[in-house]
Order: sequence, then structure tokens, then C-alpha cells
Amino acid sequence: MPTFVYMTRCDGCGQCVDICPSDIMHIDKTYRRAYNIEPNFCWECYSCVKACPQHAIDVRGYADFAPLGHSVRVLREEEKGSISWKIKYRDGRVKEFTFPIRTTPWGSIQSPSDYAVPDANALGSVMLAHEPEALKVKTLPTLPPKKKV
Ligand code: SF4
Ligand code: SF4
Repeated sequence: MPTFVYMTRCDGCGQCVDICPSDIMHIDKTYRRAYNIEPNFCWECYSCVKACPQHAIDVRGYADFAPLGHSVRVLREEEKGSISWKIKYRDGRVKEFTFPIRTTPWGSIQSPSDYAVPDANALGSVMLAHEPEALKVKTLPTLPPKKKV
């Protein structure tokens, strides 16, 4: 589900326009406020929500993530180096998470061509390309074996 902008909070700074990977946040030429020009193409990546200094952008979450009546708030605080999420479910439960802002050095992410070409046997593996090394772990976590009943 797409983003939408609270017009009374938006000051037209354009940061959401610059960051949107889908290029769908635009500034309305008449009102000088941002809006989502093509809601169907919104990835719901929250980049614009985190970037907006006025907290003017909200997202109508997908039903599998947060059913009707929910709210999701995200706050990026650069000075604290953190991103905080607050998810309110329609039954009143609230979940809050805080994560550090990722500080991957510029140019340090390897492209697919930087990894060795996988051999044909890899097609039968449950691993995705370049796992687990691309995730910077030795092995992927596994579920504990089922207990016999
Ligand atoms: Fe663009 Fe992502 Fe914002 Fe959707 S959530 S409008 S894709 S930046
Ligand atoms: Fe408006 Fe926020 Fe987009 Fe700036 S980043 S144009 S304040 S919605």
C-alpha cells in the first residue's frame, strides 16, 4: 500500500523526491507540496518516510503486515544515530523497535560480479546467490529439530 502526504505538514523541501527509488514522489506545481503520483508503484520501502524532516508522510500498510486499523510510525534521528519504529495494532497492542542507522561505507557494497560465479549444483540449494558470505555470516541459522510427540 502506498504512501500519502499530510499536506499541512509538508513544506515542499523535496527530500522525499530525491530519495524515492521508484521516482513516484513529486512536488505538485500548484500547491508546492509532495504527493505520490503512482501509488501502485510504491515499494513501501519507507525511505521517504524516514527522510522527511516534517514527518509529513505516512503509509497505509499491507494487510499481511498490519491489518486495517493499524498505524506504523517511523522516526529517523540522525543525531542519535537511530531509527525507531512504533507499530500499533488494531487490538491495541503496541510494538516498538529501535535500530542503529546503517553506516555502510560508500563504495563498500560488493556487486554480484564481485562474487565467484556459482556452479550448476547451486540451483538445487535453498541458498540465494552468494549466501551466506554476502550476509557476512559463516552459516545461515537453522530451526531446531522438531520434538517427537
Ligand atoms: Fe518511494 Fe519508498 Fe516512499 Fe514508496 S515508500 S513513495 S517507494 S520512497
Ligand atoms: Fe514534504 Fe516531507 Fe517530502 Fe519534504 S520530504 S517535500 S516535507 S513530504
